[in-house]
Amino acid sequence: MSYVFSPAPVASVPVMGCGDQFPVHRIYCVGRNYEEHAKEMGFTGREPPFFFMKPADAIVVVNDGQTGELPYPALTANLHHEIELVVAIGKGGKNIKAADALGHIYGYAVGLDMTRRDLQADMKRQGRPWCIGKGFDASAPISPITQITHAGDVANAAIWLKVNGADRQRSNVSHLIWNITETIEHLSAAWELQPGDLIYTGTPEGVDSVKRGDVLEGGVAGLGTLRLTVV
Ligand code: MN
Repeated sequence: MSYVFSPAPVASVPVMGCGDQFPVHRIYCVGRNYEEHAKEMGFTGREPPFFFMKPADAIVVVNDGQTGELPYPALTANLHHEIELVVAIGKGGKNIKAADALGHIYGYAVGLDMTRRDLQADMKRQGRPWCIGKGFDASAPISPITQITHAGDVANAAIWLKVNGADRQRSNVSHLIWNITETIEHLSAAWELQPGDLIYTGTPEGVDSVKRGDVLEGGVAGLGTLRLTVV
C-alpha cells in the first residue's frame, strides 16, 4: 500500500524525564468548567458538561524552562488566554465510570486553550459551531506530560497564569465544577476514548486578551510551567 503523498507527522508531546513522546490522538476540551469563569461568561449554576474539539496538530509544545512562540492568529482582534489542566489518556474505553477513571490516565500537562473570542461570540450569537473560534492552528500550547505517578495531588493543585509578569488567572483545580474523573465519565459516554487523547479540562476566571509581544507564563502546581511569547 502506498499513500498518494506522505502522511502528516504524528503530533506528539514529550514525557517529562524519560525522553519518550506521547502521540496525540484527539484533543477534547470542556466548556465553562469553573463556576467563576462561567459567571464571567454570563452563565451561572452547574449545567451538564459540554465538549468541543481541537485538531491534534493544534498543539504547540514548549519544553520546561524554555519560551515558546505563539503565532497571533488571523481574523481576530481579541485573542484570549485560558490556562487549563490537561489530562492525557493512556488507556481507552467507553462508558468509563468516574470510580475507574484514574486507571485510564497516563499523566497531566499544563495547557492553554487559546480562543478567538470575537469569532466565538459571533458564532454563538448566530447559533453556529465554535470551530473557528477554538480549533485554529496553534490554538493548543502544551507543556511536557508528567506521568500520573509523579504528578502529586493534581486534583487540589494551584493553577495560574501571568501575562508580562502580572497575575491574570489564579485558582485551584479543586474548583472544577466537573472534576477530572467525572469529566472522563461524561466524555467517554459520548466518544470512545483512545490512548493518546488529551482533555483540556476548562479554565478558571480571569480570561482576557493578549497581543503580539506579550509573554504568557502559566502553570499547575507539580506539573511545571508553560511559557510563550505571542509573535
Ligand atoms: Mn477552555
